[in-house]
Amino acid sequence: MSRLIIRGGMVLTLDDANTYFEVGTVVVVDDSIVSVAEGTADIAPEPGDEVIDASGKIVMPGLIDLHYHTALGKGYNDHLPLWEYLDECWYPIIRALDDEAAYWAGMLSYTESIKNGVTTVNDMYRKLDSLARAAEDIGIRAVLSNDVALDEYNLDTLADNAAAFATNHGKAGGLIEVRIGIEWLPLASPELLRDARSLANELGIGIHVHLNESQTEVDNSIERFGMRPTELAYETGLLGPDTIAAHAVWLSDHEISLMAETGTHVSHNPSSNAKLGNGIARVPEMLAAGLNVGLGHDAAECNNSADMFEVMKFASLMHRAVRADSSLMPAQQVVRMATRNGATALGHKSGQLTAGYKADIILIDTNSAMFTPMLRDNPEHLYSHLVFAANGSAVDTTIINGEVVMRGRELTRVNEQQILDESQAAFVRIKNNIVVVRR
Ligand SMILES: [Zn+2]
Repeated sequence: MSRLIIRGGMVLTLDDANTYFEVGTVVVVDDSIVSVAEGTADIAPEPGDEVIDASGKIVMPGLIDLHYHTALGKGYNDHLPLWEYLDECWYPIIRALDDEAAYWAGMLSYTESIKNGVTTVNDMYRKLDSLARAAEDIGIRAVLSNDVALDEYNLDTLADNAAAFATNHGKAGGLIEVRIGIEWLPLASPELLRDARSLANELGIGIHVHLNESQTEVDNSIERFGMRPTELAYETGLLGPDTIAAHAVWLSDHEISLMAETGTHVSHNPSSNAKLGNGIARVPEMLAAGLNVGLGHDAAECNNSADMFEVMKFASLMHRAVRADSSLMPAQQVVRMATRNGATALGHKSGQLTAGYKADIILIDTNSAMFTPMLRDNPEHLYSHLVFAANGSAVDTTIINGEVVMRGRELTRVNEQQILDESQAAFVRIKNNIVVVRR
């Protein structure tokens, strides 16, 4: 048994009652939280305990990046619309990947995420054996899915996804999970969607799919299938309480009701949607319909930052801007989306600091201009700073599954400089192998 005591921090629990302790102590045994309490006096450290002095720091659940792609390249293909970007940038790179490049792409992406306070990624990519190895080495909780499309697109198949499940699901003491990933409907058929649902049910795992991301996707769906994307997903059984639909930008009222009826979860990815010119999702209507909505950064190629603090700020400001309404998406609600809503979507017992939950915890350093002034007795002020003032560089410590994987902004399990060097070399090598096939 190993015990970790996080003493004296400002504890935002994000529990059902939104409990806040201006000075509190969180105790972790092995991979789980065993107590969260006010003050510091009740817990006396014993020999062998690891103690973290969290005074002056916010202690809160780790962020959950609900729509994620490991990525290797960014910043050289920034001005294309979604479909052209996919054809000229994203697909050529992921078709050129080899095992080694995928491993270093995973290490690079997970490094950026851990340094920005992310403890769980819902990662749709290829070469899941390499990603699982990277996630296990660096210590991040990773839900991995393949990039499944019709055979003619030369991406992944359901058989690839089933093989990845057999090899990796439950690895690293349960830190690694595998889901079924469907790229998007323009590269799918109704039969493929039905088969994906059958396989997910057979394996007892969930589904991760891009849905209604762009107007071009909706047009393609109406033309090929005679219905909108979410309507086809409903007809083929793809939706459900184990399904995470990424983006959901262009939803009709009917499609929102289908999401609600099936209990499908949504990952809102506002900064990716903005950068690719895809529009603004109808999040206020989704929330009014009772949908569970989490947040994601999407991918470095199309964002280009994995900083979930930035995503949180976009998630609030875009809806206020477009509707001229500053009451929308208050800070506390946005932080809940980035933590416990993501956990709910993944079926994880994490996303809040409550006894019995997984010890996925971050410490935020508030001794900076970013967090000054701050009224420590007012948690609303903390939420405000987290969403509107902070960025990921304020994260001091990241704890995943009870283990400190970043302390004082230093990764504890891996050599960050080696990751930067190897992923740089992998990108240059892969870039030389890229073949762009124009439609
Ligand atoms: Zn995506």
